[in-house]
Amino acid sequence: PILRVAIMGLGSYGTRVAEAMKDCKKAKLVGVISGTPSKVTEWQSKYNIPAKNCYNYENFDAIKDNPDIDAVYIITPNSQHKDQTIRVARAGKHVICEKPMGLNAKEGREMVAECKKANVHLLVGYRMRFEGNTLEVVRMRREGELGKIMFFQGLSGFRIGDPTQWRLNKELAGGGAMMDIGIYSVNGARYMVGEEPIWVTAQETKTDPVKFKPGVDETIQFQFGFPSGAVASCLSTYNMNGLDKFYLNGEKGFAEMQPSTGYGPIQGRTHKGPLDKPHITHQTVQMDEMSDIILAGKKPVLPVDGEEGLKDLIIIDAIYKAVKTGKKVALNLT
Ligand code: NAD
Repeated sequence: PILRVAIMGLGSYGTRVAEAMKDCKKAKLVGVISGTPSKVTEWQSKYNIPAKNCYNYENFDAIKDNPDIDAVYIITPNSQHKDQTIRVARAGKHVICEKPMGLNAKEGREMVAECKKANVHLLVGYRMRFEGNTLEVVRMRREGELGKIMFFQGLSGFRIGDPTQWRLNKELAGGGAMMDIGIYSVNGARYMVGEEPIWVTAQETKTDPVKFKPGVDETIQFQFGFPSGAVASCLSTYNMNGLDKFYLNGEKGFAEMQPSTGYGPIQGRTHKGPLDKPHITHQTVQMDEMSDIILAGKKPVLPVDGEEGLKDLIIIDAIYKAVKTGKKVALNLT
């Protein structure tokens, strides 16, 4: 079976997903939701989308009467995710939502509850959780090849441009680098170590308070402790170039990946040699796998459901709290 998908938000990442979906075997782009009529026309001819599968932000609740769409992939600014997810769920369609799933844990809980109530899937666009080299490191760790895990380091950042973009607007983004790129180290720490953190500490540095307004974080360093005693040290930034590195250390070996979460190819090595799984466009793999999750009940190696998205939001709330208070914040995610 083919998962028939409508993309909501035809911006830069929506375009990347649409292009990647051309190579999907189990998912197909069949509809769009956009506030810009000219983009709709353009996408209709580019992807052969019928007029009856085109919606705008006012009328998309009517998607409930459209039997030709199974799922909506929400790729809009972060502040829109919660309400759009709830409207899609109430229209009886499965939801794929971009990261961060919402602005905070409160929103995340509401999203999970509404999708459960509507009996639809809620999946988060965590493309790294389907990536070959990432899954190889996870396999090695699970099979004991790295021994007892002791330490994870995650570096996630880039230097952001245009100061007027939504990513630097607290209302639309919900924060700064942490909500956008730092979340890769938050999520990565969890799937690389294979445990949920029980505490966080965090420190913020701001060198440009004009570009990075109050509530918009520029650079945050954060640390996790895990139940086994393993620890993690991470950095999230909008003011350093090309930071994209994971390092996992265990008593019997290590894995290092650089780039670790970019669009690929993901590269790196372990104590046994280079990571050499073939590169496949992340979004192509993600959408084929999500089709199997939704239509065939497949259980992925690493989960990508709303509960996973919520865990990251709970942790990010705790990171912001640790920054604000300067204190260690306890977590209970299990
Ligand atoms: P973008 O600015 O390129 O696109 C956003 C789109 O949403 C635009 O087409 C815009 O017109 C539309 N939009 C709808 N309502 C809007 C509003 N109220 N204000 C502004 N724009 C509005 O952004 P993007 O890079 O495509 O990011 C969109 C989402 O995708 C974000 O949540 C981001 O975190 C996520 N993303 C994920 C990845 C990934 O690798 N998983 C990569 C990039 C972006």
